[in-house]
Amino acid sequence: MKYIGAHVSASGGVENAPVNADLIGAKAFALFTKNQRQWFSNPLTLASIKAFRDNCEKLEYEPFQILPHDSYLINLGHPEAEPLEKSRASFLDEMQRCQQLGLDRLNFHPGSHLNGLGVEECLKRMAESLNIALDKTKGVTAVIENTAGQGTNLGYTFEQLRVIIDNVEDKSRVGVCIDTCHAYTSGYDVKSPEGFKKTFEKFNEVIGFKYLKGMHLNDSKKDLGTRVDRHENIGMGFLGDETFKMLLNDKRFDDMPLILETPEESLWEAEIKKLYSLIGK
Ligand SMILES: [Zn+2]
Ligand SMILES: [Zn+2]
Repeated sequence: MKYIGAHVSASGGVENAPVNADLIGAKAFALFTKNQRQWFSNPLTLASIKAFRDNCEKLEYEPFQILPHDSYLINLGHPEAEPLEKSRASFLDEMQRCQQLGLDRLNFHPGSHLNGLGVEECLKRMAESLNIALDKTKGVTAVIENTAGQGTNLGYTFEQLRVIIDNVEDKSRVGVCIDTCHAYTSGYDVKSPEGFKKTFEKFNEVIGFKYLKGMHLNDSKKDLGTRVDRHENIGMGFLGDETFKMLLNDKRFDDMPLILETPEESLWEAEIKKLYSLIGK
């Protein structure tokens, strides 16, 4: 079964996210559990945690349909000691919030070397950051997102993601999320049928589908291999409908959150409907 949704607003409290998801007909959703532009926010209140859990139960969202996303400030591979410590503390806080909410996964961008570290060294540092957070939490899987490879961002090849996984001690609590826009602009041709087939064969060979904990469904404003991260609404960018049609008719993407992060929010309800209509076509 396919669980399609969007990264909805949690403005006014995390408990509003499931309500906002339900309003647009989403069967999955992503959310920020705190202000994504701040390093730290006030702790979640017990009332907010309870309301979130109650709303999820009432609206029938289980943890496997929910993919929280961490703050954009965090860089788990930062070359300098102080910002690295801050990133690690902030990430641990994000993991703990997910645990409090009863969620089972947290999606994050691996980070950037900022020309201060070699690629391999930076990837190992990211894994060490995960080891620290996993050691202090329970039940939440750290879900690494592939990137477009913009600037000095790492995690834009399956091999790089694999290096991180290889260096994580508890492999049962590390996973990946593949963003279709990032995959395409980082150089994986997920647009043509042959390219799509090859990309996910490669994914399975290098990483393995058992690590796949979610997908971001985004069209792209930029072309193949440009290494630029600019999402577009479904069918309006370089990917068109084809990528999504292949993905939604492929059982390997069953039973995980499939999340829209497309720029025009007013289209989400229609996009979800349209994506569901591609199943069986
Ligand atoms: Zn994404
Ligand atoms: Zn992106």
